[in-house]
Amino acid sequence: MSYIDQACQAFRVLLEEQQARIAAMDTRKTDFSAKETVTIGIIDGDGIGPIITAQARRVLEKLLTGEIQKGSVVIREIRGLTLENRMAQGKAIPEDVLAEIKTCDVLLKGPTTTPKGGTLESANVAMRRELDLYANCRPVSIPEKNIDWMFFRENTEGEYVLGSRGVELPGMAVDFKVTTDLGTRRIAKAAFDYAKHNGKTHVSVVTKANIMKKTDGKFTAIAHEVAKDYPGITVEDYYIDIMTANLLDEKLRTQFQVFLLPNLYGDIITDEAAQIQGGVGTAGSANIGDRYAMFEAIHGSAPRLIEQGLGHYANPQSILKAEAMLLRHICRTEAAEKLEKAMERCPVKVSADGTGATTEDYADALIGLL
Ligand code: NAD
Repeated sequence: MSYIDQACQAFRVLLEEQQARIAAMDTRKTDFSAKETVTIGIIDGDGIGPIITAQARRVLEKLLTGEIQKGSVVIREIRGLTLENRMAQGKAIPEDVLAEIKTCDVLLKGPTTTPKGGTLESANVAMRRELDLYANCRPVSIPEKNIDWMFFRENTEGEYVLGSRGVELPGMAVDFKVTTDLGTRRIAKAAFDYAKHNGKTHVSVVTKANIMKKTDGKFTAIAHEVAKDYPGITVEDYYIDIMTANLLDEKLRTQFQVFLLPNLYGDIITDEAAQIQGGVGTAGSANIGDRYAMFEAIHGSAPRLIEQGLGHYANPQSILKAEAMLLRHICRTEAAEKLEKAMERCPVKVSADGTGATTEDYADALIGLL
């Protein structure tokens, strides 16, 4: 068979798989306000993961003491999503770990290491796919600069879902990008619902639809269709290149409120926004689906900190911000506000160079304020 025939066959399989994925999409939502018991799974992860999640768990248990005693909230520790176990089993998420994860409603996850090269897929990419966590939500807030942004990055499509499925022919390589109606509609709805429920009046749709005409063109068109159901909210299109510049324009950037983006552009611009806020250690991240949701710090497992023996100086603020998002998601708004306010007031400064307070010192002080 010629190279081109082989590539066409691989492409056919991809198309069939994507059609099957759309057919299997389940859009029934969990209503946490009506749920008798909410199970929160805690996954410790690699590197500094176990250190920061241990402290985040203490804070969570303090905030939800009454509910844990009553049984309306259950905290479940999920072990085995470690690099060692994933490598040994050759699976991004070993099957027994995935089964346990699926017994939970929401997850608080420590960062997981993805080895460079090799064939082991990122645990995060696998988790987003397995639990259909289609909305990656990242808030960025700098009140003194009048910045209050919320990013809705599509999490299960775009370049990423087919990222390891490209084809190579002699002298060339081709990757694929996919955008579906259902996939776009649900992330657009999530962004507009957020705007509606949080007093926002403006959604910026960021793509490269002038170049990626089919996929980004569809994303933009569907975002505008969804916008029609939200009469008080205006929608405007931007291209990703100029938006990266706009975020650095101190006058212009204060006008933005809610961003709606396909996967790759969302990945890039949320790191830029987190950096404007003060670094990737300062933001939390939510990966939300209709049935499950996962909350995590936006930084990685910081292997160098561990190698230098400085793991216990890891800053827990990013995972604690993710914890506040988790609490809001399960309708424990009062607990979320309590945590956010305590973090604003907490005077302890954790410093990863080992000269200041430790991760545990920070949590001790925070718990004292709750
Ligand atoms: P990283 O975020 O782990 O580290 C970048 C820099 O930030 C390092 O200097 C590190 O010491 C510092 N840092 C990170 N978190 C910190 C904290 N809480 N307190 C103080 N300093 C902190 O990024 P990387 O080095 O590119 O990635 C390391 C590993 O993490 C890789 O295997 C990568 O795949 C993985 N990763 C996982 C996730 C996730 O699970 N969500 C996200 C990003 C990276």
